[in-house]
This record gives sequence, C-alpha cells and structure tokens, in this order.
Amino acid sequence: TGRPLDGRVAVVTGASSGMGAATARRLAELGAAVAVVARRREKLEALAADIASRGGQVLSLPVDVTDRAAVHTAAGQVANTLGPADLVFNNAGVQLISAIDELKVDDWQRQIDLNVTGVMNVIAAFLPHLTAAAEGGKPADLINTSSIAATRILEKYSIYSGTKAYISHLTRLIRVELGPKNVRVSAIEPGMVDTELPNHVTDPDASDMMAGLLRDIECLRDTDIAETVAFITALPRHVNISELTILPTAQA
Ligand code: NDP
Repeated sequence: TGRPLDGRVAVVTGASSGMGAATARRLAELGAAVAVVARRREKLEALAADIASRGGQVLSLPVDVTDRAAVHTAAGQVANTLGPADLVFNNAGVQLISAIDELKVDDWQRQIDLNVTGVMNVIAAFLPHLTAAAEGGKPADLINTSSIAATRILEKYSIYSGTKAYISHLTRLIRVELGPKNVRVSAIEPGMVDTELPNHVTDPDASDMMAGLLRDIECLRDTDIAETVAFITALPRHVNISELTILPTAQA
C-alpha cells in the first residue's frame, strides 16, 4: 500500500525550471527523497520549500554541472544527507540555434560544455551510487534527457542535435555495460515541451518555428515528462525502458 517510489533517492539536474522541476515534484509525490540541482538558487529554494510543504524530503543543491569538482562534492552531500542516489535524471541542457557559417563558437561551446561535459560529470559523480544501490538489490535508474533533435535533420540545429545524438548513443552503449549490473539506463527523446528552453534562442527562424508550434498545437507540458520519468522508474526492477520518444500528438 506504499507509494511507488518510497525509499528511493533521486537526483534531478536542471530542476530549477521546466521538465526537471516538474519531475522533481512528481518523484517526491510518489515517495522519493529528491536532490534538486541547477544554478539558480532562489528557484531551487522555492521548489524545495514547495516539495517540503507537501511532506516531501528534499535537498537543494545550487550547482553548475559543468563544474566537475562541484558535482562531485554535491554527490557526497546527497550520500550524507539522503543516502546514495538510486535514480538520476540527468536532464540539464541548453539549446542555442544558429547557422553553422555564423561561427557562433561561444554558443557551440556552451552547448557542448553543458549537454556533453555536464552530462558526463553527473554520470561520473553518481555512477558509484547507482551501482551500489543495484548491488544492494534496489532498483537503480540513470535517465538521460536527449531530444527528437538527436535523429531529425533540423536546419541550423547542428551543434544542439550533435549533443543530443551523443547523449542517445552514449546511453545505448553504457546500457550494455550497466544493464548486466542491474542498473537501468534510459534515454528520453521529447518533442516540443512548453518550458523555458526557447527563451535562450536568438535565431529568428528557430524562434518562429517553436513559437508557431506552441501557438498552433497543444504541446507537451513539463508534467507529461514528469509522468514519463515516473513510469520508467516505478516499473519492476527487471524492466528497462531503454529509449522513449514522446511527442505532442499533433507535432509532425
Ligand atoms: P529549461 O530551460 O526550462 O530547463 C533547463 C534547466 O537546466 C534549468 O533548470 C537550468 O537551470 C538548468 N541548467 C542550465 N545550465 C545549467 C548548468 N550549467 N548547471 C546546472 N543546471 C543548468 O528547459 P527544459 O526543461 O525544456 O530542458 C530540460 C532538458 O530537456 C534539456 O536537456 C533540453 O535540451 C531537453 N529537451 C527539451 C525539449 C523542449 O521542447 N523543451 C525537447 C527535447 C529535449 P539554471 O539556469 O538555474 O541552471
């Protein structure tokens, strides 16, 4: 009669807004203790206060995931405060769109630093937690946020799509190593979700495309992604949803 995630210890990166915030809320509702990670401290504190007011156990970690040492320290704080993590939603990411010949190399680097290096920093810091949890007989989940951009050919999306293709294929490869150790490894590939993601986009064509989708069709909500992560993680331990594409029904 308990809740599906009672006793689980979750880490959610990119938890100060969008999919991460909604997922942190949902995992806590379902019984998990949740560590929330992002840079904006005030947003995290407000989220943590909200989760705690509903009876959830929560740890706020204002950390930049591109900082390897800081992520490592955060992993220690999770272990000391909540116990080792057995559910990692590796979700922080940024989308910056530009034509390749604009040579916006700073934007290229920002995406690589967060969507590739940041994702790897989180894996490095929390993998020992996940394998320990699995050895102890607990379910253990690593869920990486990719995108439909990993496979679609979207003009001007080259660097973003490249980082997401990296995440999708990385996920397939590490699953082969970690599955036999009873760590479930998943990539989720969402289509258009109504979040803060487009706010960082300066390219007018890409901004128009996303604004058009948000205007013309019913896009996914952050809570739809939260429900997806809850579904994946609450399944019996022998069931691994390895890749999951989720689209707004009306998105082509
Ligand atoms: P948001 O912009 O709302 O969320 C991004 C989150 O990442 C924020 O919480 C932000 O918080 C955090 N973040 C950014 N930089 C860092 C950093 N250096 N260290 C730690 N946290 C950081 O967008 P979404 O919720 O949409 O994005 C979540 C993920 O979903 C991303 O990986 C995105 O690529 C992916 N995605 C989104 C889709 C969409 O349509 N929205 C579709 C497919 C995939 P802060 O600024 O406080 O650090």
